Amino acid sequence: MNRLEGERGFCGAGKLARVAAVSVHPGEEPPISGTRGSGTIFFSHCNMRCLFCQNYPISQYGNGREMDTDTLAGEMLRLRELGVHNVNFVTPTPHVPQMLEAVLLARGKGFDLPVVYNTNGYDALETLALLDGVVDIYLPDAKYLSAELAATASETPDYARHNEAALAEMVRQVGFLSVGDDGIAARGVLVRHLVLPGRVGETEAVLAHLSGRHGPELPLSLMGQYFPAWRAAATGGFDRKVTRKEYDRAIDAASLLGFRNVFIQER
Ligand code: SF4
Repeated sequence: MNRLEGERGFCGAGKLARVAAVSVHPGEEPPISGTRGSGTIFFSHCNMRCLFCQNYPISQYGNGREMDTDTLAGEMLRLRELGVHNVNFVTPTPHVPQMLEAVLLARGKGFDLPVVYNTNGYDALETLALLDGVVDIYLPDAKYLSAELAATASETPDYARHNEAALAEMVRQVGFLSVGDDGIAARGVLVRHLVLPGRVGETEAVLAHLSGRHGPELPLSLMGQYFPAWRAAATGGFDRKVTRKEYDRAIDAASLLGFRNVFIQER
């Protein structure tokens, strides 16, 4: 697939970056959003197809506007002027070349904030190698262990294999998320997991796998905000929110496995 020649593949991304939103986000985990917010640059398109995607107009239909790398670098500098703690590229996987060029351009113009790579965790090692020394903070998902669920829910049956390798490479590059005296993170990996309705067993399996691979010091964010967006509303088994009881069970699983650095959501 040669995007430079105008071809487009599964994710739908083209030659230029497409950006859905640039904003100061107060709602990431506390070490990421801090007191002044995280400067999010929200890319359009996605290399997964989660039937419950809350951002489907952006991720699946490509809503957004094309942006050359000069403009993208300018947006990074503008966010810095607004006082954010970091610049946070959301769903960056299909746009890594444009992101890298923008970071280089912005660094040349005085950009000195941590760069956050906020990803679904379905990243190739070849891609991550390009980010070594550029990305300071990785916020990857660990969505599934089950190939069947990954296929049904996101059309990515090989998710677990790629996710495991990707997380290991991210940890190798920057270690676990470390938080300074000011409570703000400058470097490291924080893994996110979204609890799905009726599938706390899968959450338990994912957490046990993460513990076995990285140990209980791995920083985790357990997300309980699932709701049946996009196709999920019409898909049996995905058509309801996660209950309080299910979310509590997920928190208990993390606790029983000994995870100590866990962010949970107030509901
Ligand atoms: S990985 Fe995230 S952005 Fe992409 S389709 Fe799934 S939920 Fe949407």
